[in-house]
Amino acid sequence: MTEPYITEVQLVELDKLRQHEEVDPAHLKELKEEIRSDKILKFAIVVDKNTNIILDGEHRFNSLKELGCRRIPVVYVDYNSPDIQVQSWRNNLHLTKKDIIEAGLGEKKLPPKTSKHMIKIGDRLLHISAIQKRTDVPLEVLRNDVEHVDIKDVKPAMCTELREVLPLYAKFLDTGIVDNPIIVDRKTGVILEGHEVYQALDLLSAGKVPAIKVNIFEMKIRSLQPDLKPITAEAIIEAGLKGPRLPPKSFKVLLEHLKISVPLGELLAPEEKDRRILKVYNSTLELLYEGWPTPLVKLKSLSNDKRSVWAKLEGYNPFSNSVKDRIGWSMLNDALERGAIRQAIYEATSTNTGIALTSIANTLGVKAKLYIPQTIQKVSDVYLKVLGAEVIRLPVGLTVEAIGQVDFQAKADNATHLNQFENDANFKVHLKYTARELDQQLQSVGLKPSYIIGGLGTSGHMSAISFYFKNKYRNNVKIVGVQPAPNEVIPGIRRVETGMKWFHWVDFDEVVDVKQVEAIEAAIYIARKEGLLIGLSAGAVVHAFNKISKDDGVYVLIFPDTGYKYAEQFENYFKNLKEQRGCNAVDR
Ligand code: PLP
Repeated sequence: MTEPYITEVQLVELDKLRQHEEVDPAHLKELKEEIRSDKILKFAIVVDKNTNIILDGEHRFNSLKELGCRRIPVVYVDYNSPDIQVQSWRNNLHLTKKDIIEAGLGEKKLPPKTSKHMIKIGDRLLHISAIQKRTDVPLEVLRNDVEHVDIKDVKPAMCTELREVLPLYAKFLDTGIVDNPIIVDRKTGVILEGHEVYQALDLLSAGKVPAIKVNIFEMKIRSLQPDLKPITAEAIIEAGLKGPRLPPKSFKVLLEHLKISVPLGELLAPEEKDRRILKVYNSTLELLYEGWPTPLVKLKSLSNDKRSVWAKLEGYNPFSNSVKDRIGWSMLNDALERGAIRQAIYEATSTNTGIALTSIANTLGVKAKLYIPQTIQKVSDVYLKVLGAEVIRLPVGLTVEAIGQVDFQAKADNATHLNQFENDANFKVHLKYTARELDQQLQSVGLKPSYIIGGLGTSGHMSAISFYFKNKYRNNVKIVGVQPAPNEVIPGIRRVETGMKWFHWVDFDEVVDVKQVEAIEAAIYIARKEGLLIGLSAGAVVHAFNKISKDDGVYVLIFPDTGYKYAEQFENYFKNLKEQRGCNAVDR
């Protein structure tokens, strides 16, 4: 420090400080009584920062000690500074700084009221008490230790201005030191002082805060907004426990900021080092398989006391934002292992498998050519064009109807036809990952499924799920497939009688028919109740759930993708609704 003293008042543990003088018992007794009855310590004492020797304030130091305090407010000075001088109250006694330090560090103290410290401020030589700020620190604050309290257990009573919080955030991050304690009410955890510190630590994701616990009713509350009526302890507790929070700068309990020094590292939650948990991936492919499991989320709008309904969100897969990323990866890996990848991949798809295969093929430098039924939304062509796939629209209603043509063309062009409808890598990836991760996710919340409901396209994911869960839980779990009602189009799913490989290998308890409008309306319901924009086949699953569900049980709905590809279908639905209701109708 270039200045001879630090203006900020530090809260220092009494144990750390050293006396250089004895105290006068009569004066000590008197002062102690005064402090006890005031319930505050008015002025900070002066201490040498190098030796922790008290230069002025030994009676206050001893009073606090006897009053059971742990800390004392201190103004630190640099005793080496020539601006600080030592004199004596006693005539004819010559004292040096060396005498003071020897007495402070050694056993033999000077008699009471021997030294007199002076400080040069400008061209005036003043008694050192001139730098002792009036701080009025409540004894409550001085009695208690700074504890590391769980941030969850402290409750702000007041709002803060972000612009007041950010400088603290920046300082803590830069210095690695939290230098202000939070004062909280011992009983309720309501914050009385240090709201900005609390907010800064919260923004730093700290798990703990440095807090001094006090009894709010022992504190003097200073209302800061004079035109409002004075704020009471009860009002602060109510604001902290129930809300609403009081406006910024409504009150304070300390006259001055008190400084402490707590390493920020001790307050932060232990840092997670696992890159998987931190979601760091070495390639976009890792983003897929290291990203599993896809989330399982409880749908509160469909659950009640006895029934819980969970959705598995396959839209969280990175490439096609659908369940089909899994089979794109698995079929391509399998083909790579068999040495069956040629310069291009041909596939019949209703979009999702096409996007998944093109994306993954791009990472391998392999081209994709996709055959899509004309019934599928136009936006698919745009997405696939961006990804660099060639798209052929076929005059068929169902993807599966294109297989013959795709197979023929692939052979003619020496391309690879992976054929999702027949390729066992489809079923296998869902058995190894999708089904097992779902079971583990349910186990993590102590549940076994009563019903699992999902759409049927190739039947890959639901057949694998059926095989896994029926073998593990037998008939305690019911497996329900979902197909479009006759003559209905729901992208991604189709009727069982159109031919499915794995569906016939396993047990399904029921297959539910759903119309497109029912699927759309169920998707809109989920969007408006749960805030999730789900795809049409997911909407069909929700509709099937509504049809078959009972009042109790654990229901799992597999949502294959999100709603973003189906703007066309949603738009048509709203248009038809408007036409039916007349042109004044709103879009609801
Ligand atoms: N839903 C959507 C949106 C799909 O794209 C698909 C498959 O294409 C399915 C459901 C059906 O999945 P699976 O082929 O595993 O039966």
